[in-house]
Amino acid sequence: MKKSDIINFGAGPAALPESVLSEAAAAVLNYRDTGLSILEIPHRGPLFAELLAESKSLVLQLAGLSAEEYEVLWLQGGGRMQFAMIPMNFLAAGATAGYIDSGYWAYDAMEHARLFGNVDILASSREIGYTVFPELHRPIPDTLSYVHLTTNNTIYGTQLQDIPDCPVPLFADMSSDIFSQKREYRKFDLFYAVAQKNLGAAGNTLVVLRKNLLDKVVRRSASILDYSMQVKSGSVLNTPPVFAIYISLLTLRWIKAKGIDTIEQETLAKAQLLYGEVERNTLLEPVADTADRSRMNVVFRMKDTALEKELSAHCLANGIEGIEGHRSVGGFRVSLYNAISLAQVQKLVDTLQEFEKKKTKK
Ligand code: PMP
Repeated sequence: MKKSDIINFGAGPAALPESVLSEAAAAVLNYRDTGLSILEIPHRGPLFAELLAESKSLVLQLAGLSAEEYEVLWLQGGGRMQFAMIPMNFLAAGATAGYIDSGYWAYDAMEHARLFGNVDILASSREIGYTVFPELHRPIPDTLSYVHLTTNNTIYGTQLQDIPDCPVPLFADMSSDIFSQKREYRKFDLFYAVAQKNLGAAGNTLVVLRKNLLDKVVRRSASILDYSMQVKSGSVLNTPPVFAIYISLLTLRWIKAKGIDTIEQETLAKAQLLYGEVERNTLLEPVADTADRSRMNVVFRMKDTALEKELSAHCLANGIEGIEGHRSVGGFRVSLYNAISLAQVQKLVDTLQEFEKKKTKK
């Protein structure tokens, strides 16, 4: 089986651009003609310092932020560690943080906050199965320590449409839609994204935070969990995942070369093509509310759920992987991250149509 025979629509670890994979593979054997593998270079030497600095500068460029105002960190521990670090650093015992409960990960982030302080649920769509992005029906109190939201709900396929005006620091989990569209990143005081969707490989998490936030850290934590200590050490407090950061750097270079405008247009075209088919296909139905649906994760189910296994097998036989829904919701979920091309989505659409023909033939 060749790599190009398979299209990976998985939600993460997800498809990476081919050029990123081949450059990463070459660097494993010999990094920039140094005679060293990227896996062997020291994390406190000049080779790593250079690639780390470039990766941070690319993040700021792509987000339209300045190095005077914002810090960029690459941390380990994934999304869950950010769920914990945020309240550990910014929610004092007895204080309250606002959470927008828009899905499984948003809820999990909120549950982590309860370990450290109080939570005000500003909006929730939990009772209706997270099929919409919940709307705020009251002003955000200015007494909150911060507000946390999730810009894209990977499991339910809903996405934030408008960034709320927030009188307190605004934090966001952007794991599944970072750098897929133009966004006003400066409206956020802290945002983070696991790398294994739009930014590289698992093991690496991007955190961008406004420098003046560090004055608001409310408790001492173990250094590895303390944003101030991480900033002070410039992401090399401990041995960082050098290879994973390198893959993120390659991915960021690829994003920059393509340009966020082009990526946004492609993202829209891919999402329109697939939602169009899900709506047209007589065997399928979309799950998320039309106004809030995600351009990154297209979630749908079959009208006759008994056909789901057969559709999965049909797709697999056509080289299409990773379209099963999250274990908690079932159905299907197709992830259209940046590395997925319009032609690949067309191939999926053709395959869905073929299956429909097969099933509806008299
Ligand atoms: N946030 C979002 C939006 C996610 O989709 C996920 C799942 N990859 C996570 C957080 C959790 O990330 P991790 O598995 O790295 O903890």
